[in-house]
Amino acid sequence: MKDLIQPSTPVDGQLQVAQVQAVAEAWSPQHVLSWAFRTFGKQVAISSAFGAEGMVLIDMASRISKDFRLFSIDTEFLFAETYNLMDRIEQKYGITIERVYSTLSPEEQQRVHGEALWTSNPDLCCNLRKVEPLRRKLGELSAWITSIRRDQTSVRSGAKRIEWDAKFGLVKVNPIVDWTSKQVWRYIHDHDVPYNALHDQDYPSIGCTHCTRAVRPGEDQRAGRWPGFNKTECGLHIIEPLPASSQVQAVTAEGGD
Ligand code: SF4
Repeated sequence: MKDLIQPSTPVDGQLQVAQVQAVAEAWSPQHVLSWAFRTFGKQVAISSAFGAEGMVLIDMASRISKDFRLFSIDTEFLFAETYNLMDRIEQKYGITIERVYSTLSPEEQQRVHGEALWTSNPDLCCNLRKVEPLRRKLGELSAWITSIRRDQTSVRSGAKRIEWDAKFGLVKVNPIVDWTSKQVWRYIHDHDVPYNALHDQDYPSIGCTHCTRAVRPGEDQRAGRWPGFNKTECGLHIIEPLPASSQVQAVTAEGGD
């Protein structure tokens, strides 16, 4: 297959999506990753918080490319088990995780916004520690790769394998968007992939220490995130509709090996 041209503008990126979006729905996750690496080169990176799904993607990527880019938003409130896993990933896969931080240290945040902002205004806290750093990082890229799955939250249920991310203005690639949790864990066990030790202690979804607890029997997989708040997303994957003027007409689907 002829390699595609690296998009250099948002319009290029939207055209790129329009060209492959429909056909990519039938691609395997490995095929989606290969397409992303071939199409965007060093302008694409995997974004991960090192949940089970992220570990699947990292392992798959390591079998396709030896020097893929991987970044993580480090809120500075992560579990010791998560930091430990990050060290193990760097050793096992021979890569350096690009760690992205808020411009405010935890101490500065407390000085400016008061103590324990996550209890009074978790949306603001997530914006300061996750969304703004992510926006800054994505400004360097033409595409990002995520490990979201459609059945995780209602916000994610309409996600495509390859889509235009209007919120951040770049291509968004979701190779395992149609996978189930069972498929994720089967891959992890079959390929001996490292994972966060907290998953074995009833933490199916892991974020910051302040906003994550173990789930109880019968609870939803994400019930342990922001307990006590009507909040299921930190804002990274919330879709904002394109303005009508910038919609790109779908063109003939083409692509793949
Ligand atoms: S998950 Fe909690 S502690 Fe972490 S950034 Fe969001 S509100 Fe703050």
